[in-house]
Amino acid sequence: MEMQPGKVYLVGAGPGDPGLISLRGVECLQKADVVLYDGLVNPLLLRHAKAHCERTCRHSAPGGRILKQDEINQRLVEEASKGKTVVRLKGGDPFIFGRGSEEAAFLREHGIEYEIVPGITAAVAAGEYAGLSLTHRDHAAMVSFITGHESPDKPASQLDYRQLAELPGTLVFYMGLDRLPKIAASLIENGKAESTPAAVVSRATTPLQRTVAGTLGELPQLVAEAQLHAPSLIIVGECVRQREQLAWFEDRPLLGQRVGITRPAHQADEQIARCIELGAQPVLMPLIEITPPDDWSEVDATLDRIAEFDWVIFTSVNGVSGLLDRHWSRGGDVRQLAHLKFAAIGSSTAKALEQLHIRPDVIPEEFRAESLAASLSPLVEGQKVLWARASRGRDVLPRELAAAGADLEQLVVYQNRDVTELDAETVELIEAGELTWIGLSSPSIARSLAALLPDSAKASLGKSTRLVAISPVTAEAAAECGLPVALVADTFTWDGILSAIAAS
Ligand code: SAH
Repeated sequence: MEMQPGKVYLVGAGPGDPGLISLRGVECLQKADVVLYDGLVNPLLLRHAKAHCERTCRHSAPGGRILKQDEINQRLVEEASKGKTVVRLKGGDPFIFGRGSEEAAFLREHGIEYEIVPGITAAVAAGEYAGLSLTHRDHAAMVSFITGHESPDKPASQLDYRQLAELPGTLVFYMGLDRLPKIAASLIENGKAESTPAAVVSRATTPLQRTVAGTLGELPQLVAEAQLHAPSLIIVGECVRQREQLAWFEDRPLLGQRVGITRPAHQADEQIARCIELGAQPVLMPLIEITPPDDWSEVDATLDRIAEFDWVIFTSVNGVSGLLDRHWSRGGDVRQLAHLKFAAIGSSTAKALEQLHIRPDVIPEEFRAESLAASLSPLVEGQKVLWARASRGRDVLPRELAAAGADLEQLVVYQNRDVTELDAETVELIEAGELTWIGLSSPSIARSLAALLPDSAKASLGKSTRLVAISPVTAEAAAECGLPVALVADTFTWDGILSAIAAS
């Protein structure tokens, strides 16, 4: 059979905030076999892809090899020729200062089908996230996107600063941070008023966004003092004044902070979203991993006699999916569970049940084993109770429920294992004092952190990196292994951890 040729999608990833990719872009990522992404792309976007993802970095970075443009072109053709669906993911919009059109031309030359998915270009997003409209009708009837970085191989600059200085409206310079003094001076020399409002927006739409605004004359000095980093845009024009009235993004409470999320990476979607909403950058650093039991025979045997039980207790979302997904995959459904009463330790676990259209009968006020036991104790005397649990955990429930006269069976429906190492980038962030918070959501996570963190990084704990425990029990476990806990959540959930950070 002849192989179907593949297709290449040139996709704009948007300016940085992972919410600012298009729906079409996400669809492409979901069906990709191969993703080649550039240095500006937020790696969180790769969570949409099941594919092999490879960075074609312009800046050197761990895990990425620098591919030259020719090599990228070749790779796109090669992979598509093998019949693969390829996504070429590029920061912002693929064509705006993005060389996407060169890639498309190369594909056309080689007879490879492609589709181009626009992205939100940095200028547009930076304006909005910094609180200014590039085309406010009182200030600007036009906007110009200008390169601040002429290719060195061009014999003469294509840009005539005399013309640029005369252009009405808003000027936006891409790739110009290093040359800001030169750009500002050239504009002024050519007649642009020194007093023209101007700004640099650095790392726009990311939690590290910073904006420095002033007049064109003073901007280079202000930016040097603020030590802004690439990628940055220079925006020149009256519209910059609007900022004082409209700025919103930089008011987020945790802007510029990084929060380490220690739960399994595939279960972190909600925490990532919440961090971003609060302005913080989520750093995924899973300290435990969740795996199915090595062998399902015990779970299956228990499900076969589920009719004998009166209650089922769940103390985690993984417990719910461990037991009930297995029940479903063996051909069962809710009807075999109709006689049961259900208890959930907290709101997340309750939500997992509710999504299966099961309403828990008991949710304690405080989300901890002691409270769950106290709520259940009056209800379970003489009853047969099943606890769908992790391979590791506390023994409060068995003790308390036995005391209450319940006949408790414990069933391991998933395993929680420590990861064996932390990734090097995370350790470096901690050592450099750039990870602001780490959330500890269980005693085993606290112990795992203490075991895996090298001393060079431990030195940052309690100083540049502060630890937040999900509950007093976790705080105590952390203290026992020498970790200084700065905050304890009021509500014993990840949301509680993030709220505690936001309120601190
Ligand atoms: N195709 C991209 C631009 C690539 S050129 C787009 O459409 O946005 C790279 C330049 O884009 C950087 O030097 C910087 O000037 C700008 N840029 C990209 N992302 C940015 C961001 N998040 N904040 C500020 N400038 C950004």
